[in-house]
This record gives sequence, structure tokens and C-alpha cells, in this order.
Amino acid sequence: MDQVTQPDARYRVLFDPVQIGPVIARNRFYQVPHCTGMGYSLPRTLAAMRGMKAAGGWGVVCTEYCSIHPTSDDLPHPFASLWDEGDTRNLAALAEAVHEHGSLAGVELWHGGSYVANLGSRQPTLGVRSMPSHGEPVQSQPMDRRDIRELRRWHVEAARRARAAGFDIVYVYPAHGYLLWEFLSRSLNGRSDEYGGSLENRTRLLRELLQETREAVGDKCAVATRFSADGHGEEHLSGSEARDVIGALAELPDLWDLVVSDYYGQEMATSRFVPEASLEEKVRYVKALTTKPVVSVGRFTSPDTMVRQVRSGVMDLVGAARPSIADPFLPEKIRTGRLEDIRECIGCNVCYAYNYRGAAIRCTQNPTMGEEWRRGWHPEQVPPGSGSVLIVGAGPAGLEAAHILGKRGFRVSVAEARNAAGGRVTLEARLPGLSEWGRVRDYRLGQLRGLANVTVYFESKLTASDVREFGADHVLIATGAHWRRDATGRSRAQPLAFPAAKVLTPDDILAGARPGGSVVVYDDDNYYMGPSIAVLLARNGARVSYVTTASTAGEWSHYTGEQQRVQEQLIEVGVEILVSRLIAAYDGTTIVLDGAYGGPSRTLEASSVVLVTSREPDEALYRQLCDTAGTDAPAGIQRIGDCRQPGIIAHAVYAGHRAARELDVVMPATSRDRPTI
Ligand code: ADP
Ligand code: SF4
Repeated sequence: MDQVTQPDARYRVLFDPVQIGPVIARNRFYQVPHCTGMGYSLPRTLAAMRGMKAAGGWGVVCTEYCSIHPTSDDLPHPFASLWDEGDTRNLAALAEAVHEHGSLAGVELWHGGSYVANLGSRQPTLGVRSMPSHGEPVQSQPMDRRDIRELRRWHVEAARRARAAGFDIVYVYPAHGYLLWEFLSRSLNGRSDEYGGSLENRTRLLRELLQETREAVGDKCAVATRFSADGHGEEHLSGSEARDVIGALAELPDLWDLVVSDYYGQEMATSRFVPEASLEEKVRYVKALTTKPVVSVGRFTSPDTMVRQVRSGVMDLVGAARPSIADPFLPEKIRTGRLEDIRECIGCNVCYAYNYRGAAIRCTQNPTMGEEWRRGWHPEQVPPGSGSVLIVGAGPAGLEAAHILGKRGFRVSVAEARNAAGGRVTLEARLPGLSEWGRVRDYRLGQLRGLANVTVYFESKLTASDVREFGADHVLIATGAHWRRDATGRSRAQPLAFPAAKVLTPDDILAGARPGGSVVVYDDDNYYMGPSIAVLLARNGARVSYVTTASTAGEWSHYTGEQQRVQEQLIEVGVEILVSRLIAAYDGTTIVLDGAYGGPSRTLEASSVVLVTSREPDEALYRQLCDTAGTDAPAGIQRIGDCRQPGIIAHAVYAGHRAARELDVVMPATSRDRPTI
């Protein structure tokens, strides 16, 4: 990246330095704390990933939630920690990686309170009173005064370790349902001592920690706090109480990092339900209460929106988690005027989902995310190569491979059967709320426009003899997958026979079929497809019953934080929901549903059924090439994406990226597939 280019005058304000207490951020791009699935367990992986954000121009780069003590352990979700000297050394590597590029490193000190279960440390959890943890059959120990003194000591010690590790910004964290949030809550904090009762008393611990953290870090680090601008819901901390707390503590921290009370429904919501910059109205009042800089988020990917946030006085620093994951080089691209190269977050929350699953972060748009250390992948740099490549299929896998191979210098030809690129992404982006998913296609097509060595041929359905005659050095088959019509899937191994005219699959709906009358959408896939089709058809006038083999609608969307909203939306549009049901038969008028846990079967009248069960890889072309070559592994030919392993879009993009990087490389015998620290 060149260092001399001046940003376009319109965006110059984004590159102003900002004083945060004793430290100065080099610009207004602020990567707020976000989870990574790496935490304490993959320190070098984490350092390399955070360092890449700094390289990409983020003026401040923060850790995820960072536990101050073993009484705050969120396993199986890998959190960061500053429990001891080993942790200090590990996080020093992160701070160093961030400093290398002139950015500031922030650490979000955290105590989980009753929320966590301490599955790793096996210490009793602590709470403002004894409460059940989030998801485990265990309750917290109610904290007495001694426990509060201990907590304050741990926080101070962790703050000192943070300073020793080289951090520039140290957080006190009273949001998102953790310990300090419990103390602020009117309903939970029924204490009769000086830490309970009045708002002043409920705020006491937060105030003490802010003061003591400042004493601990001296003038070396800034002290920040992450606070919910609209409270925590009426029963816990009302909007006006939140305003009072911010007013009372206004000048105590050096930075206010503002969030909102509705975490899944707004702050962390997906693009399916919430647009860019949605927090604006709830956080904008805070700047009038404090002279300290304010940062907040809003899934900002548009530099014009960012400028508006700053110029209209909503925030001083433009916060981002997901946009910095999808494009670690977003600030640099704005600075150097390469707006068309921005890889915009699509708001799918796949990044969040995998932390939830206990695995290292990944991203639909940015396949290098999480692979900076293990595989040495840089989001903007690829090694040179040469030769010719034929890619069959221009879905997310094919398009990702095409632009990476094009950038590497290969002569690339892409053959696509349809008259448009994007494969499943183009079709699925038409489902309710999923239009931003089209960015997966748009970013890659935009990149291809600048590559004279890549040609895309539309309406070119290739056969095995076409592929052989083409004579490319390498062939990537990216022909996708199709949905099954026989109900086989996760819950059913044996196919069922149905009257063909009455049974549809998502492929039919995506191709434009709109069955009316009484429609059953049968979901054994249990992510977004089933509920999305149910909403689409209901809005189109059908009487829709959504039947799922799981116990909630779109159950996997629990991990993306969408499940509640998904179920609410089905109810809003008038869809009847039946859970824990397995299809047993359908004769064209009546569907028979067994209970997943036994009990009587149920019947529903259905003029058609949409089966959302599982997909079959479209690997016929690959198999023909194998057959004619007389081998299961024809030289120079490989499958990528859904035609090899049907999965989510992120998997297909990753497969395309990896194939494009490793196509001509003999990988070392020692695999780097195990996550490495
Ligand atoms: P992925 O997610 O793996 O990229 P998609 O299903 O999104 O898979 O995309 C596969 C693409 O391949 C589709 O656009 C489809 O039209 C195209 N395709 C399938 N078979 C052929 C073929 N024989 N020749 C050219 N294109 C094909
Ligand atoms: Fe955005 Fe999805 Fe990537 Fe997360 S996984 S950063 S939501 S594109």
C-alpha cells in the first residue's frame, strides 16, 4: 500500500487523528472488540489476524472479551484472558502486531458474572445474586463485600497486565449481560448494601472500576467503557437511567464505546432484518453529555455513511467489527480511493456463528479471515503463478477462484451455463431480506473487471469432451448442487415417493415457482432456506405451514443470533409453525407427519409441499472426466464448492480461494490443517 496518497477530500475527515486520553488514534477507524473463536487458545493466530487489521488501516484494534480471572470463563467459546504472565506474553504479541503498523491496541477487560459457567476453570461463578448461568444447570454464588473487593483487585491486576502487554486502551465493560450489567440492573440487584438499591449505588462498582483502572494504568493507557446508550430494557436499566449513568460518569472514561440494549435484534442483527447505521438514533444524544470521544457501530461499509456519522455529531470514531472482518483493508481502500475494491460485509453473521460453535472465526466474504497465521494468507496479496485454468461454473466458488487466479497471473476462462454469474448467490439474494448477499457476487465481478487475463463465457454449459478439448493446464469444476426431491436428509435416510407435480424444492422456488393454496414447507435443513421460502410464499398469498424436524424454526440460525427473529417473522406473516415433526407420506392432498419423539401422527391438507431437506452435489461432469481418464483423481482436475461438498456460501468461497492459491503448489507433507497456536 502506498503511504503518500491523500484521501479524497470527501473522506479526509475519516483520517483525522483523535486524542483518546493519553494516546492518539491515527485515524477514526476503530475496530471495536469482537469475538474470534481464537482467544486464549490460539494466540499467534489471533495476533496475526488483529495485526492484519492494523496493516489495513484500522487506527484502533481491540481484542475480544478478555477475562480478568478464572471465575470468568466462557468455554466452550474461546475468550481472551489476562489471568497470568503467560497470558500477558500471549497478548503482548497481539499488541506488538498492531503497533507495527502505527495503530493502537485496545483490550476489553471482562467478567462474565452469572452468565458464564466456568466449564474450564471449574471455579464457582459469581453474581450480584445467585442466578442460573446462560445454558448450563448451574447458578452463581451471590457476591458478598469480600467478593466485591476481590473482584476489584482482580480487575486492577488485569489492568496492570494489560499495560505490561503493551495495550493503549483498557476497557471497563458493563454491557451485554455480564457481571457489571447485573449490578446496574434494578431487577437483579436487590442488594441492601452500598452496591444495591439506588441508581447511584448500582453504578458504584462501575465507577470504582473506572477510577481504579485509571490508577492502575497511569498515563500510559486510555480507559474506555462499553455502555448501552438506551439502557438494558425497562426492567433492568431504563433509557432514562442509562442517560443518567452516562451523565454522572461523563468525564470519567477517556472514551465511550456505545452499544444498545437489543443485542441480537439490532446491534448484532443480520442484514436480513436490520440495515446499516441502525444505532444512530439511540446513541446520538451521548455526545452532548460528554467531552470525551465517542465510538459506536452500525455495520458501516459505505464511506459516505461513515462521514455522515462523524459530521452530524453521532460519533467521533467509526466503530466496526463485521466490516473489518469482511475487509481488513477497508480504511486503506478508502484512503487510496479504491472504493470499488471494498469487500463489503453482507451481514450474514457466519463470523459470529463459528465463535459460538467454539471454532476459529471465518467470513463469507473474506476467506482469508482466520488463516493469516496458519496458512499465511493475506487478504490483498497472492503469490504469482502462470499457466491456463478452465473454471466450470460461476457461482461463489468459481468466481472466487477466478479472481484470485486472475490476480496471480493465470490465464483464466470461466464457463457458466446460465446467462448470469453468481450461481446460488444470485438466486438466494432474491429471498426476503437477503439482497445484501448479492455482494458476494458483486465484489468478485468487480474484481474481474480489472483483469484482462480472465474471460467469462455465459450460456456455456460444458460437457466432458468440451473440457478436454479446451486443453487447459488446470480445471476447476464448480458446478454446484441441487436440492433433493425425495425428503432424504438429516432425519431421513430412505427416500419417499411423492406425486411429482405437487412436490417442489428450493430450486423450483428460486427459479420462480410460486405455489398458492395451502403449502407445507418442510424443513430438515434448519437454517435460512426453509423459513425464507415460507415467508416468501406467505407474502405471495399462500396459506403456509412451516414444519420442521427441529424444535424451533430455522434452528441453526441460533448461532447467527437470528433464530428468535426468524420465528417472530414467520408468526408475523401468518405462517403456522409445527416443530419436531417428520414427514411420513404425502399423496398430493394430505401430508402425514410423525412426531419426532413418538406420539400420534398428524395430518395436514396441502395442495403442495416444498421439501427443504438436503442437497445432492452436481458432480456428473467431474465423474465423466474421471471415467474418461480412467482414474478417480484425474491430473489437473479438481472439484470445488458445493459440487464437492454442499454447504453454506462461506464454504464455497473458501474452497474456491484455497484451490486458487494451492492449485500449482505441492503442499508440505505435514498438514497445516490442525489449528495452530
Ligand atoms: P458454488 O456454491 O459451489 O459456487 P453454485 O451452485 O452457486 O455453486 O454455482 C454453480 C454454477 O455452475 C451455477 O451457476 C451453474 O449454472 C453452473 N454450472 C453447473 N453445471 C455447469 C456446466 N456443466 N457448465 C457450465 N456451468 C455449469
Ligand atoms: Fe460480514 Fe458475514 Fe463476513 Fe460476518 S461472516 S463479517 S457478517 S460477511
